[in-house]
Amino acid sequence: EAKLGEDSGYCFFHPKMEEQMLNRHRVQREFLESIHACHLVLHYQPQMDVASCRVIGFEALIRWPLANGGHRPANEFIGLVEADGRLIRSLGRYVLEQALSQLTTWRAQGFETTVSINIGARHLLAPEFLEDVDTALRKHPVSRTALKLEITETAYLSDLEKTAEVLAACRARGLKIALDDFGTGYASLSYLQRLPCDQIKIDQSFIRQLLDNPQNQAIVAALITAARLLDIEIIAEGVETAEHALRLLEMGCLLAQGYAAARPMPPEAVIDWTRQQQPNQTLPEWAHHAAT
Ligand code: C2E
Ligand code: MG
Ligand code: MG
Ligand code: MG
Repeated sequence: EAKLGEDSGYCFFHPKMEEQMLNRHRVQREFLESIHACHLVLHYQPQMDVASCRVIGFEALIRWPLANGGHRPANEFIGLVEADGRLIRSLGRYVLEQALSQLTTWRAQGFETTVSINIGARHLLAPEFLEDVDTALRKHPVSRTALKLEITETAYLSDLEKTAEVLAACRARGLKIALDDFGTGYASLSYLQRLPCDQIKIDQSFIRQLLDNPQNQAIVAALITAARLLDIEIIAEGVETAEHALRLLEMGCLLAQGYAAARPMPPEAVIDWTRQQQPNQTLPEWAHHAAT
């Protein structure tokens, strides 16, 4: 049992905690090595216009390849990455580069689309953020309007004014802005007035309980109304079933992202997958297609 004492080196830590710390540092070091070795990959998840079954773009999600050929999803390690300012900035620079490079490759193959990337709060508010953006844009002079930056609520909570400033600077460069995981904060709606943005993404937690929780439905309806009034695009994330997509459509949310359409896929699969979609097939057909 660890006890507080002046002469024991790690008295604040239970041995278990110390082990977790060491593990944490090991994972962080391995992550940085993987970035430097360009081992990390982006997988792409389509965003759909539900009524027309048209693909409107893709969200890029970071994946850490495993030795067995599988991939570790972001939610298993992004917390550790965000806890370290240097790591989250390195990841941000890497993802900017990779996404722009992918857009360039696709364009050369005659495939035009848009890509959304996730930006960590600490990177966005770091003094070198805009420089990182400019460096990547100079290196990959693809159409800037094809790139969207997704920012989650934790980013603006810490410094709303600074966040607004940086987002405005990004938009001045032609980039699009999305507010990710939207609706969970107590002041979400007030952010819409204060932050320049092009799209809001309704948090998955609301969608999951959409069909049987009237309170969730009320919140989603309020977000949809607010977005319409402010002329901001709104998309639901975590849409897992056709039933959810249809309910959202009825409520006036026309865009959806989630397993109902597709799981995130490697870039090599994107063009084929998109060509297999049949724009303007009737909604029940899509729902059937999505459910199977
Ligand atoms: P997010 O940006 O909100 O991304 C959506 C997450 O939900 C992704 O998890 C995606 O795989 C998952 N998802 C998509 N559709 C469904 C669905 O229908 N059902 C369910 N249950 N899940 C769905 P992932 O890839 O593990 O990413 C988790 C979070 O990690 C992301 O949440 C984002 O905040 C962060 N993240 C991912 N990639 C990056 C990155 O390149 N940079 C940074 N800074 N953060 C990233
Ligand atoms: Mg996102
Ligand atoms: Mg999200
Ligand atoms: Mg999230």
